[in-house]
Amino acid sequence: MLASPHTLSIITTHRCTAACDHCCFDCTPDRSHPSIPVKNIHRYVEQATEIKSFKLVVLTGGECFLLGRDLDDVVSTITRNGLKSRFVSNGYWATSPKVARRRLESLVSRGLGEANLSTGDAHMAYVKPEYVKYGAMAAADLGLTVFIMLELHSQSRFDFEAFVGDPVFRPYLESKKVIIQNSPWMRFNGEKQLTYTREYVQEMSNGRVGGCSTVLKVIAITPTESVVSCCGLTLEQIEELHLGSLKEKTLGEILRGAPDDFIKVWIHLQGPDAVLRYARRIDPSIPQYDDTAHICEVCRCMYHDARVVAAVMKSPPPFMGDLMRQYVMNLAQPIAETQFETSTAAYKEVCSVNKMRKMRATAAIPV
Ligand code: SF4
Ligand code: SF4
Repeated sequence: MLASPHTLSIITTHRCTAACDHCCFDCTPDRSHPSIPVKNIHRYVEQATEIKSFKLVVLTGGECFLLGRDLDDVVSTITRNGLKSRFVSNGYWATSPKVARRRLESLVSRGLGEANLSTGDAHMAYVKPEYVKYGAMAAADLGLTVFIMLELHSQSRFDFEAFVGDPVFRPYLESKKVIIQNSPWMRFNGEKQLTYTREYVQEMSNGRVGGCSTVLKVIAITPTESVVSCCGLTLEQIEELHLGSLKEKTLGEILRGAPDDFIKVWIHLQGPDAVLRYARRIDPSIPQYDDTAHICEVCRCMYHDARVVAAVMKSPPPFMGDLMRQYVMNLAQPIAETQFETSTAAYKEVCSVNKMRKMRATAAIPV
């Protein structure tokens, strides 16, 4: 497969301390959820070094802190192999500033570089938003790059002002040591009906014109040890994104052996919206799917409607060659060491508290 992925995202388990409504992987504390055996996580990190373009390993889940002290050892393996590391967590372990700092000091001493935390209406039913703040502040104090993802949908009642207005926390936001980012809370198998305002759908749609930055660039490993060509929320629901099983082949063998796939290249460069739009011109019976705020929801609609790929196969786009050439030319560009710093700087610019506040005002319908 023609690809130069920069990030390996290891979904260590589908077990979690929380059971958020509409969790993308239906995670719960139940012990029957699949997890990657710890020795295999180390092995897959070692295998990642075979692919020279990898720069970063993300440890996520479910809840990756359920690995306990094994998480620290995995971070050591990542660092020893010359890769950067990031965790994604709900912050349940950060029960006080002191506890948060102690837990993170250990990870930072092993080379951890970035922290991603999440909160919002669904998360706070299980983890206090304060814990997320304690975790974020401790991480920032230890020099980590810190992002907090805030759920957003039209019925969101999360108290944004109380969250960002906390006088202890606010300086971290003002100095951009902690970056907050709204993200559409997407529909999965939850109980609550999730909707999005027209304005928010439009704003999200405008932001998708640059395509999907994840597909072919971030490779995920699922808890059942399947390799996937992106780390999208809907990755478990789109069979076409799965490349092979690590129980049968190494990571390098799977990536080298995967066929080139024009649709994925198209999604990467122009997004699933562009594929849908083109397919609708060939087959007008395909719906617009225009009530979708998250790019991965558009992608799920696109892949789950068999008419879309059928339309593209029946009448391939005349610009197919141009897109493939553009993709191959992009591959020839080396992934700069500084790329992650550059993208963090761009996020700092885009994700100000004021911008997030304005976005929430258009997205959440007041009571
Ligand atoms: S914290 Fe994340 S992984 Fe855990 S249940 Fe909630 S959404 Fe799912
Ligand atoms: S838009 Fe599609 S390809 Fe991109 S991350 Fe989401 S599910 Fe994956």
